[in-house]
Amino acid sequence: LIVLDKVNKWFGPLHVLNDVSLSVAKGEVVVVIGPSGSGKSTLCRAINRLEPINDGTITFDGRPLPAEGRSLARLRSEVGMVFQSFNLFAHKTILQNVMLGPTKVRKEKPAAVRDRAMSLLDRVGIGNQAEKYPAQLSGGQQQRVAIARALAMQPKALLFDEPTSALDPEMVGEVLDVMTSLAKEGMTMVVVTHEMGFARHAANRVVFMADGQLVEQAPPAEFFANPKSDRAKDFLSKIL
Ligand code: ATP
Ligand code: MG
Repeated sequence: LIVLDKVNKWFGPLHVLNDVSLSVAKGEVVVVIGPSGSGKSTLCRAINRLEPINDGTITFDGRPLPAEGRSLARLRSEVGMVFQSFNLFAHKTILQNVMLGPTKVRKEKPAAVRDRAMSLLDRVGIGNQAEKYPAQLSGGQQQRVAIARALAMQPKALLFDEPTSALDPEMVGEVLDVMTSLAKEGMTMVVVTHEMGFARHAANRVVFMADGQLVEQAPPAEFFANPKSDRAKDFLSKIL
């Protein structure tokens, strides 16, 4: 579904993605780990073209990423993104936040979108909070709303960039539970996270990045039991 081939990206002199090749099959869950500054966020942002690349190719669903215009808007609706900061609209209710993309961007009929939004809110466990405003919800609840909002666009893939890093520890589990159930239901997911439990239990593959390079990738059991590169060993020894 997502194929990166020898992708390179520079920020000025800084080589942030160095010949990164990666393919993510439909229904696959890929967890990306690596030290701070290794290019994980840039990789995510490149996939839905929030960040242009300098060299190489990225294709989504068989098509090269569009540079602009209507096909870019379509790509963005097909590839949902969930960030560390939830980015909900403070002056809109939870339900309005979830309905916004489909009604405003895709011009779908509000009545149909409302039903879908409500069932998504039920699915992430906050159906009873639909009329509240973001500030009235906990961080974990807000992040679950952000996931429902991404799902409301009926994406073909979801990208998560450290979705639990801004949460108090007791709220991490409820967000990971939602992500785990999405993974089990066959959603294609690329997840940047430091939650190694999630990587072990929900990922099909772990990708380790360092200094802009994809250093190694393997199924989680294999990667955690037997990391091949010194950098991966060093990284794991610091976080586990
Ligand atoms: P973290 O774990 O801290 O989130 P990361 O692996 O997500 O790190 P990136 O955010 O992708 O790393 O950044 C990779 C490198 O690119 C870093 O050295 C960062 O400082 C640099 N960088 C990121 N965005 C920009 C930008 N807009 N302009 C210049 N440099 C940038
Ligand atoms: Mg990052």
